[in-house]
Amino acid sequence: MKFRKGLRLRLPAMLRTLKAFVTAESPSTEKPAADACAALIAAEWAKRNVRVEALERRHRGPHLRITRETGGGKARGQLLVLGHYDTVYAIGTLARMPYRQTGGQVFGPGVFDMKAGIVQALFALDAIERSEAHLGKRLVFLWTSDEEIGSESSRKLLESEAKRSDVVFVLEPSLGPHGLLKTARKGVGDAEIIVHGRSSHAGLAPEKGINAIHELALQIGRLRDWNDLRRGISVNAGIVDGGTRSNVIPDRARAVLDLRALRTSDMRKIEKRLHSLRPILPGARLEVRGGFSRAPLEREYSAALYERARKLGKQMGLHIGEATAGGGSDGNFTAALGIPTLDGLGAVGDGAHSAGEHIVARAMPERAALLAALLLTS
Ligand SMILES: [Zn+2]
Repeated sequence: MKFRKGLRLRLPAMLRTLKAFVTAESPSTEKPAADACAALIAAEWAKRNVRVEALERRHRGPHLRITRETGGGKARGQLLVLGHYDTVYAIGTLARMPYRQTGGQVFGPGVFDMKAGIVQALFALDAIERSEAHLGKRLVFLWTSDEEIGSESSRKLLESEAKRSDVVFVLEPSLGPHGLLKTARKGVGDAEIIVHGRSSHAGLAPEKGINAIHELALQIGRLRDWNDLRRGISVNAGIVDGGTRSNVIPDRARAVLDLRALRTSDMRKIEKRLHSLRPILPGARLEVRGGFSRAPLEREYSAALYERARKLGKQMGLHIGEATAGGGSDGNFTAALGIPTLDGLGAVGDGAHSAGEHIVARAMPERAALLAALLLTS
């Protein structure tokens, strides 16, 4: 498979497409802009031998489902390539963070997370078509519009597509300068603890009060002990509020927690503990809401695919490594269903969600070649 060489010649075309995608701003929450970006991406894919469906959403851009049927005969299965075209950048970000290429790097909002990934997939498909290799399985590319805000409107769709698939390749950014693939991702969630106490005058009638802030502080002390960074468990109190004046015993206090776990069993344990918290101060009452929203992507679901990616990379002269990501992606959902999932197959670069977001241009053909080889051998 000489994908790498052929794709290197296509780098200028890849960059032209990338520029078009990045300069169509597409924040998750701005439907008209997202619609326009989706139309552009759809039109580019429609130039290929594929079926393009725009699955409209009332408040979001459409999810794009692109299907490449097998050449002849019945498909032996389906492979899902997953990603999103929404970004975290508000309309107008381009004005102070323009699309620009300098010294082999390409900057722009959403270039790394993850419009370059969509371009790489597009050119991986081209490379497969040009090679005239036989595809035994149907390919489905799913580009969603709301990953950055929790995938509320796409989760059902991507889960049902994943269930029909033998494997899932996620084109989220790779990690670090060497483009490590993400073979494990932490499960992520948030929770809220609300303490109800009883207000009273701090000087005249302290015995009548139940201090909600004191209760919350004691609970946070407990939660803090659940942290086990070596095991990949973190519980972070990120916001606290409560009280009105220093001479009033507060009747209400609240903490918002960020929850992370690398193992599903740990995720369950944390959730159970959280919901079985009992008040410490007499008369205080606790209300606990929330929990994990994405289960961990456990390494066992990516190990075999990673091994294959590593070998294919080696044949192309690419060194492929792996890493664990602290954040979740839609790959967490598909792995939680038990579908083998390999994540971080997108661009090589850095600075996602920041002013310095960029990709390494010369890695685009390499990663596209790797994806093409994975698709042909899955
Ligand atoms: Zn992303």
